[in-house]
Amino acid sequence: MTARIIDGRALAARLRGDLVSRIGQLPFRPGLAVVLVGDNPASRVYVRSKDRAAREAGIAAQTIVLPGDTAEPALLAGIARLNADPAVDGILVQLPLPPQIRAQAVIDAIDPEKDVDGFHPINAGRLVDGRPGLIPCTPLGVMKLLAEAGVSPAGSRALVLGRSVIVGKPMATLLLAADATVTIAHSRTRDVAAECRRAEILVAAVGRPGLVRGDWISHGATVIDVGINRLPDGRLVGDVAFDECLETAGAITPVPGGVGPMTIACLLENTVTAAIRRRDGAEDPLRRW
Ligand code: NAP
Repeated sequence: MTARIIDGRALAARLRGDLVSRIGQLPFRPGLAVVLVGDNPASRVYVRSKDRAAREAGIAAQTIVLPGDTAEPALLAGIARLNADPAVDGILVQLPLPPQIRAQAVIDAIDPEKDVDGFHPINAGRLVDGRPGLIPCTPLGVMKLLAEAGVSPAGSRALVLGRSVIVGKPMATLLLAADATVTIAHSRTRDVAAECRRAEILVAAVGRPGLVRGDWISHGATVIDVGINRLPDGRLVGDVAFDECLETAGAITPVPGGVGPMTIACLLENTVTAAIRRRDGAEDPLRRW
């Protein structure tokens, strides 16, 4: 058996095309502010592609670049200004931040209604509680990939490998909300391979190149690889040994071209969701994967 490849690039392009027409029909332009502190090369690339994607979708994007030695109070004051700016619907502060700035203090300072990354504790709580909020982009993108692949989580055994606040925990919550039976594995899990072998849906978000081996996959499982790892030779690979898993998986996402493009598409969607809600249109985001 050879796994079906789930094409995140194609789905993301379609979603972005849909957003262009949706934004074109709005009586206003949604606004997104992306804040970068310092000059981390990977962050610069991410910020540039988010800014470009937002502009292409018709979002009024602004990227604010602050020096690497910016003090925390100065950044918090900048966020307060963006919170108060009626033209700004979404605020994203690129992580990681320099050591003198506490990421949690920055996330807490963002207006939850403009928190398009979905990292604010209010949005995390809403997600757990099943209430409308803003959902972290990467797990939201994974749910859309599963739907696109025709994989229904309801009743399935799902394993989320990784328990970060950004990916693993919200991922597990979304799968649970979609009626999967969810296990979360992490660095202290006794036998990660055995947990993986039980899974019908496996989402790997670990940051270890090729950790998930071919013989960890149950026959026909759907494998979603969130990992983005740069090898010493410059190649970009996921957390899953892709070639090995092709033989056993039923469907699998590639790296690059799987989850990554969906994260940006979902950021744009969250910006539109935030803009419509802030301007009194009711929309339920716990809905559309
Ligand atoms: P993170 O905060 O470093 O969390 C990694 C998680 O993996 C932790 O929960 C850790 O367990 C667990 N882990 C580490 N080694 C393990 C092992 N050997 N066995 C089992 N679990 C292990 O990372 P993250 O922010 O969630 O990101 C994970 C990966 O996804 C990274 O490669 C990142 O670049 C990528 N990513 C991609 C996108 C995208 O758009 N595609 C977006 C975000 C992140 P403990 O909690 O016990 O330490």
